[in-house]
Amino acid sequence: MAEKQKYVAAIDQGTTSTRCMLFNQQGMPVYSSQLEHKQQYPKPGWVEHDPLEIWERTQDVVRDVIRKAQCSPSDIVSAGITNQRETVVAWNPDTGKPYYNAVVWQDLRGKDYIDSLIHQGGIDLLRDKTGVPLSPYFAGSKIHWLTEHVDEIRRAVSGGGRICFGTIDSWLIWNLTGGVSGGAFITDVTNASRYLMMDIASFSWNAELAETFGVKPEHLPEIRPSIGDCYGYTRRDGPFGGEIPLCGILGDQQAALFGQACFQVGQGKNTYGTGCFLLVNTGEEMPVSKHGLLTTAAYQEKGKKPVYALEGSIAVAGSLVQWMRDSIGLVDSAPAIDRLAETVDDNGGVYFVPAFSGLFAPYWESGARGLIAGLTGFAGAAHLARAVLEATAYQTKDIFDAMEKDSGVPIQELRVDGGMSKSEPLMQFQADMLQVPVIRPEVQETTALGAAYAAGLSRGFWESYDDLADHWKEDKRWSPHMDISRRDEYLSQWHKAVERSKGWAES
Ligand code: ADP
Repeated sequence: MAEKQKYVAAIDQGTTSTRCMLFNQQGMPVYSSQLEHKQQYPKPGWVEHDPLEIWERTQDVVRDVIRKAQCSPSDIVSAGITNQRETVVAWNPDTGKPYYNAVVWQDLRGKDYIDSLIHQGGIDLLRDKTGVPLSPYFAGSKIHWLTEHVDEIRRAVSGGGRICFGTIDSWLIWNLTGGVSGGAFITDVTNASRYLMMDIASFSWNAELAETFGVKPEHLPEIRPSIGDCYGYTRRDGPFGGEIPLCGILGDQQAALFGQACFQVGQGKNTYGTGCFLLVNTGEEMPVSKHGLLTTAAYQEKGKKPVYALEGSIAVAGSLVQWMRDSIGLVDSAPAIDRLAETVDDNGGVYFVPAFSGLFAPYWESGARGLIAGLTGFAGAAHLARAVLEATAYQTKDIFDAMEKDSGVPIQELRVDGGMSKSEPLMQFQADMLQVPVIRPEVQETTALGAAYAAGLSRGFWESYDDLADHWKEDKRWSPHMDISRRDEYLSQWHKAVERSKGWAES
């Protein structure tokens, strides 16, 4: 009798939706289920999610995928989690209830406190300790805001009740492994490195930094390796319907790096989703960025040294396409922006700086705001569509340059993934801006794949990193065609527009 098919499950809790996918031993996705959740914008610059809705959607997609696969829990070797990073949930472990909505990574409400710290010691005040610049992007500023503005949270952190602060991985694992009856309160090194509170050399919480952001290390999850560790088992009465070992956690961008099999020093990827994130594996030595990039954990296997990455983060990429679709009505679907852009040869002089949440790497300007520059009567909807796509390519180019300067090594090619990597005009323009080939793999669900790889490696479903690297297959490649002088003209106009966007929100 043929052996029964076994799977590894990945839960991918993203900014706009939650997915559960089952992968087979060849690393191919075989079953998938996905549900969106509500984006809440209570004030300009604020973005929230309902943590209970996210937990509901997670259970729904897990149940749906198990139903589609018609498999029993014993067919699932292990499960991994990947998640939107920096988004903070504060909950009461006695009741299982969140104290407040999740404050999402794009949310800027921590800006005033961050500005006061920058005023004391500059943007790199905590960079030596944490690897990152001061920015309201990171979890610490959101935690601080919650401790200052939500009475119940303020009371709980000063001893009047129990409280857990965690990123979405922690919230889901706590719920999956038992919730109020003893759920595991943990996170992994990749998520912990996004708090502004973790010591980036020792991978432990720094009590002084925790205090800077209004909490104590005991309010924060235990930091564990991303791979090779078992965090607990899913509850029998939970969505998997059985006890599945949870043994892989990677923040979404680190998961994509892992899913793209970037295991060698110098290998990197760019994920074009809601935002856009370029990460390059830098090995076991801690890299120091002098050009506005982040030092972050790439992954850690239990019993081994953590592997680092340099990262450039862009806040607004695919979400600009969504905004053009939903708020402005320029197009009625995301792919329609490609078709519209392809009706003209160039941007007609139009540049769009999408600084809706300020500008992230390598500029770190939280006071920047969005602008459209270079408008003339000649410009039409198609030029605007091109400017929307090009904005992501220019921002990626700026990060790519910073990456080369920091590492001192030229990057030979860029592996890409994410929803926006389906855009032909963007990918071609990206290759033209970078002047290196841009390559998309066959399996484009690299984020979920990375979480599955972490969980599968932990249980011997895959033997080695070489096994995983063998799965990686090229789907499509874009080579540069544009001549350098034309490329440089585009970049110089883009940088002029970026300068104009800076400081707009400063009083
Ligand atoms: P996330 O995981 O961050 O939710 P995805 O990787 O699913 O995001 O990518 C979705 C994003 O990609 C959306 O913001 C959407 O606007 C954009 N997108 C999807 N298809 C295209 C396309 N053909 N052209 C341009 N943008 C696209």
